[in-house]
Amino acid sequence: MISEKMKPLVNNNSAIRAMFEEGKRLAAIYGAENVYDFSLGNPNVPAPEAVNEAICRIVNEEPSVMVHGYMSNAGFEDVREAIAQSLNRRFGTKFHQGNILMTVGAASGLNVILKTILNLQDQVVTFAPYFVEYGNYVRNYDGILEVVPADTETFQPDLEEFSRRITDRTKAVIINTPNNPTGVIYSEAVLTRLGEILTEKEKKFGTQIVLISDEPYRELAYDGAEVPYVTKFYHNTVICYSYSKSLSLPGERIGYLVIPDELTDSKEVFNAAVIANRVMGAVNAPSLMQRVVMRCVDETADIEAYDRNRNLLYRGLREAGFECVKPQGAFYMFVKSPEPDEKKFCEACKKEHILVVPGSSFACPGYVRISYCVSFDQIRRSLPAFKRVAEGYGLKGLED
Ligand code: PLP
Repeated sequence: MISEKMKPLVNNNSAIRAMFEEGKRLAAIYGAENVYDFSLGNPNVPAPEAVNEAICRIVNEEPSVMVHGYMSNAGFEDVREAIAQSLNRRFGTKFHQGNILMTVGAASGLNVILKTILNLQDQVVTFAPYFVEYGNYVRNYDGILEVVPADTETFQPDLEEFSRRITDRTKAVIINTPNNPTGVIYSEAVLTRLGEILTEKEKKFGTQIVLISDEPYRELAYDGAEVPYVTKFYHNTVICYSYSKSLSLPGERIGYLVIPDELTDSKEVFNAAVIANRVMGAVNAPSLMQRVVMRCVDETADIEAYDRNRNLLYRGLREAGFECVKPQGAFYMFVKSPEPDEKKFCEACKKEHILVVPGSSFACPGYVRISYCVSFDQIRRSLPAFKRVAEGYGLKGLED
């Protein structure tokens, strides 16, 4: 019954989800407190109190048709204006509501923009390691994902190789900073060079290339790290934002696209994206959540909690002897496997009831991803288990 296009998706069902199921199985046998599940990026920090207050006030005080009714497929005008003004205050941009399209999270935002711009066999370039769904999203619209291999020294994008991979078929580039799974943040210098390369290539091929900045982790940056606003570096940039992580609302499905005036044919692209949002079946982003984010536009969940987790886990892993680039943002660590086949390393971890995701799920074998959006206590309790795994490989503690 199922379509040919669905078959590979069913067969390659996400390793991350599979791990999550494994976690539940192990917890049923050994007790949840004896299983260290670092597989999913499901925030454990609660949504800020302001979110709960906003929900109560909105349902009690705003007219029902405003809270639960249909609205423009782009979203409520006042919500979009509030978001535009918040971005302008924080990043010195000049957006207005006509640049903001409310979406059903970043996943839907990525699909909306890809459906809007891709023709058959168009190429979309991204950098390994990358969020595994990019491949599926690009294939939804019959595009081809071209992956620039990782620079495993720094996990910053390899821009020379990137430049070589761009062809006259390149329609889009997806970047993700702060990054899942490495936690690196692209600096101003990197984004400046990336923008220069794209401008040169547009000129050389006489094409338009859209830089899609997927940034659900924008607010999750540590040690005062700056996350530069990507529209400043290249005219054809679209921002894909989500409140899943910044407000700990992943199940509520709320985010937005920014389609700036500087983008070529900006109005036409915006209108087409609104239609894409409709015809893909989302119709509009959830109305209650739109009204909530308007009231919480400058709020975040407790990001310091993730920072405490980051420091504890990083120190513990280094002391055990594991190698890892210290993440500057998001809530993931990408740790080098002590043996070439990281799937075997995942199995060794599982024997100690530790669940981590193989790097091959992010097109970067030889590494594993650890999601540290878990309780501080889980990390503390897991460290002796990590130490035992390290001892099994004969690892020696590393300097900080
Ligand atoms: N992009 C990246 C890099 C992610 O890590 C995720 C979720 O983990 C998403 C997009 C999807 O986020 P959302 O919940 O907003 O759809």
